[in-house]
Amino acid sequence: MLRTHTCGELRISDVNKHVVLAGWVQRQRDKGSVLWIDLRDRYGITQLIFDESKTDAALFNAARALGREFVVQVEATVVERLSKNDKMPTGDIELKVTKLTVLNTAKLPPFTIEDETDGGDDLRMKYRYLDLRRNTVREKLQLRHKMAQQTRTYLDAQNFIEVETPVLIKSTPEGARDFVVPSRIHHGEFYALPQSPQTFKQLLMVSGFDRYYQIVKCFRDEDLRADRQPEFTQIDCEMAFITQEDILSTFEGLVRHLFKNVKGIDLPSVPRMNYDEAMKLYGSDKPDTRFAMKFVEITEHTKGKNFPVFESAELVVGICAKGCSEYSRKQIDELTEFVKRPQIGAKGLVYVQYRTDGTIKSSVDKFYSPEDLNVWVEKFNAQPGDLIFLMAGEAYSTRKQLNELRLLLGDRLGLRDKNKFSALWVIDFPLLEWNEETKRYHAMHHPFTSPKREDLHLLDTDPGKVRANAYDMVINGTEVGGGSIRIHDRPTQQLMFTHLGFTEEEAKKQFGFLMEAFEFGAPPHGGIAFGFDRLCSLFGGADSIRDFIAFPKNNAGRDVMIDTPSTISDEQLKELGILVK
Ligand code: ASP
Repeated sequence: MLRTHTCGELRISDVNKHVVLAGWVQRQRDKGSVLWIDLRDRYGITQLIFDESKTDAALFNAARALGREFVVQVEATVVERLSKNDKMPTGDIELKVTKLTVLNTAKLPPFTIEDETDGGDDLRMKYRYLDLRRNTVREKLQLRHKMAQQTRTYLDAQNFIEVETPVLIKSTPEGARDFVVPSRIHHGEFYALPQSPQTFKQLLMVSGFDRYYQIVKCFRDEDLRADRQPEFTQIDCEMAFITQEDILSTFEGLVRHLFKNVKGIDLPSVPRMNYDEAMKLYGSDKPDTRFAMKFVEITEHTKGKNFPVFESAELVVGICAKGCSEYSRKQIDELTEFVKRPQIGAKGLVYVQYRTDGTIKSSVDKFYSPEDLNVWVEKFNAQPGDLIFLMAGEAYSTRKQLNELRLLLGDRLGLRDKNKFSALWVIDFPLLEWNEETKRYHAMHHPFTSPKREDLHLLDTDPGKVRANAYDMVINGTEVGGGSIRIHDRPTQQLMFTHLGFTEEEAKKQFGFLMEAFEFGAPPHGGIAFGFDRLCSLFGGADSIRDFIAFPKNNAGRDVMIDTPSTISDEQLKELGILVK
């Protein structure tokens, strides 16, 4: 090997040892007659010292000539430092170099390779291999590695088998578009890349594998949104002969195992909330439960007072911001503007200030007496010093809008601490979701999810009311995983496709293989998939998933380093039967 030790290894106990190290020149400090160099590798930084009076002149000059990011090997003696640096593990020692070999030179890097870099996003992505030399980025990938290791440890101990499923497949609907791959051999025919291994893992249950998992790449051609990756990784799992209860406890176990073994955190057992309740209390199917600020509905206490907005509203609902009663007019106006932005689309915001002196003032004083306002304040269980915000309108959209305000206030009030974790199971999702564009129902999860038996009779009369055996795990307001108990018989699966608007022919063409498999003894089964990149970023306390992926795409879906997507030659297009000339 080209080294005896790494750059993160040597300590005071190693003084007087002769060692060989190799790494990159991070930084040089030239004090005239003394020269220090920080030598870096994956494990840390070790300081090299060259003292002109005690060093051979050729060696001293060679050291001075080194540039940033040169790759060097040094032979040296470990010495105790005169001025120690307790901020770095190797800070008690430095190396008195006796031999220096330049293993490779380097061009001046386009940005500084340190924790704080001057490189902008685009530049860092173009030179991602240099960006990855930085500690802060490397540490994120190390965390990812640990997460994957611990996932395997846990699932293996639970008897799960990791099975690889194919990447060239045909469509598996998860609600996005497929990436397709043209076939050269069969012109006019295409493979699709998996949006998930959903159908294959179900087939593995028919095969009797019983407990399957895979840390697997999935591909979804979705409209670009910040922090969306067209390819991403799932911890994909499936189990047979289980109830929903078994899935919830097994995967709550996984998440708690990860918290314990990766972060040293004892996550309390994960509470459950059904979808309807989550929508009612938080206006979201992925509520951030790090803080309360639950919705309070006061519709019936607002009627008959001639305030037109509330009079005509299906729902009047609000939240109570603790300790905010003294918000200025300007602050309140700003929040009003926030909810009125087109992305949120609220018409306005009503406020009630329960002042610290006990008086109550609101923006609707003209319509409501102090007694009326008192009733509201009681409903909210507000204390002097609190500020209540109310919104009104059609129930579903009003709740969604209030959810945005709640999250913003949570941020403002410092209630969304990245180092605090609150997990929640959201259960009993609706089976179907109305789509305004296509004017039909779509599967909310995917078409293989089973309906609740007791709701089946509603499928014809009130499809939107049918609940599914589907569940999501939510941590800090982020959906980190979701799954369902599946349909495992042909007639029910066929019925489902019919309700989703497939003709019998279409269903057979796309999913005939699965329905046929159900006729050969399919066991009851269900599963879940976790978004692995997202889970890693959550554990890393970061907002973006990009740094937890070694070579990510940018927000425009491009890899600017290898420059893709890119055109291909006419030759290739012809071969694929795409260009016919
Ligand atoms: N295949 C689903 C997904 O990707 C997860 C599952 O139902 O197990 O969301």
